[in-house]
Amino acid sequence: MASPAPAPAPFCPKRILVTGGAGFIGSHLCKRLVNEGHDVICLDNLFTGDKLNIAELLTRPNFEFIRHDIVDPIKLEVDQIYNLACPASPPHYQYNPIKTMQTSVLGIMNMLELARHLNCPILQASTSEVYGDALVHPQRENYWGNVNCAGIRSCYDEGKRAAETLLFDYNRMYKTKVRVVRIFNTYGPNMHPYDGRVVSNFIRQALNNEPITIFGSGDQTRSFQFVDDLVEGMVRMMNNTNDFIGPVNLGNPGEFTIKQLAEMVIRMTGSQSQLVYRELPGDDPCRRRPDNSLAREKLGGWQPVVQLEQGLERTIAYFRSINANLAHYRPP
Ligand code: NAD
Ligand code: UDP
Repeated sequence: MASPAPAPAPFCPKRILVTGGAGFIGSHLCKRLVNEGHDVICLDNLFTGDKLNIAELLTRPNFEFIRHDIVDPIKLEVDQIYNLACPASPPHYQYNPIKTMQTSVLGIMNMLELARHLNCPILQASTSEVYGDALVHPQRENYWGNVNCAGIRSCYDEGKRAAETLLFDYNRMYKTKVRVVRIFNTYGPNMHPYDGRVVSNFIRQALNNEPITIFGSGDQTRSFQFVDDLVEGMVRMMNNTNDFIGPVNLGNPGEFTIKQLAEMVIRMTGSQSQLVYRELPGDDPCRRRPDNSLAREKLGGWQPVVQLEQGLERTIAYFRSINANLAHYRPP
């Protein structure tokens, strides 16, 4: 007779720190963890984040918000750390590039010291930007990248590369339990409508029948991942039990030109917007697409399930819901 299946392990709520938790991705991660019953501390300096993103969580007893800048050390008692604090869109991270570098390097040092002291795992939100203007396609984790260390994107790209170095050195020197995910272009509700990224720009412009700004020819490509798929991958990476530390790509392999994205957004919003062409910003990568085989192998078959059109539908619905309140987000 077959022996009965083992009883599932009892749920054990954890105390989880999410830096950058009031931002776009961070707010989705906080919501997921709060809904799972964990005690979540969201730490954010609100540079690009917004309390509106976490408004529904602020009333939950297992959620706490702390306004703090990770460039300064902090002492907290937690069981896991997700480090997402860092401006992520080119206009935002280029606004004060020195501060961006400080956030990436001094910020992760502070978080790594905390993780080391608490002996708890720390997951870093790294980026496909570590591959720069990639010379191999699609990008695998063993590609070392093609990054300009002196250009206008360097504060972000090199900051994230230096952060990865620190994480792996803490792991080698102190056995700190690090986890590194390299996130490819991610979109969804709670994106800042003026963060200057392509998805938020195009949807905002389309809903207001404003010109859709295509930088360069529009033939450059990106692979767009819906935020729920990313959060699933991040949680699996944090909780993987085979000591897999990464780096691992998390992205949707569906690759689109920027012009295709513009046409899709115009069609889906029924917009009257026209395409206008603007100069391509410096060091803008030509092509980007993740090779996800490592994530599939190491993270229980993880792969994105939301296709671009489905994800855009949900994102457009969100942007419609905030369209009357755009003044709240408009930069000064
Ligand atoms: P976001 O700008 O919406 O969120 C970043 C959050 O970090 C904001 O709430 C901001 O206020 C906070 N923050 C910035 N500097 C801080 C500091 N010094 N101290 C405390 N808080 C600070 O961006 P996002 O898209 O949600 O990105 C989250 C993370 O994921 C970032 O680390 C980003 O580099 C990474 N990432 C995002 C993407 C993407 O496509 N969205 C791609 C690759 C990597
Ligand atoms: N882009 C564009 N119009 C915009 C904003 C961005 O054509 O209004 C282009 C940008 O030049 C880049 C691509 O869209 O080639 C993705 O830009 P985004 O800032 O979203 O992400 P990243 O460049 O960091 O991948």
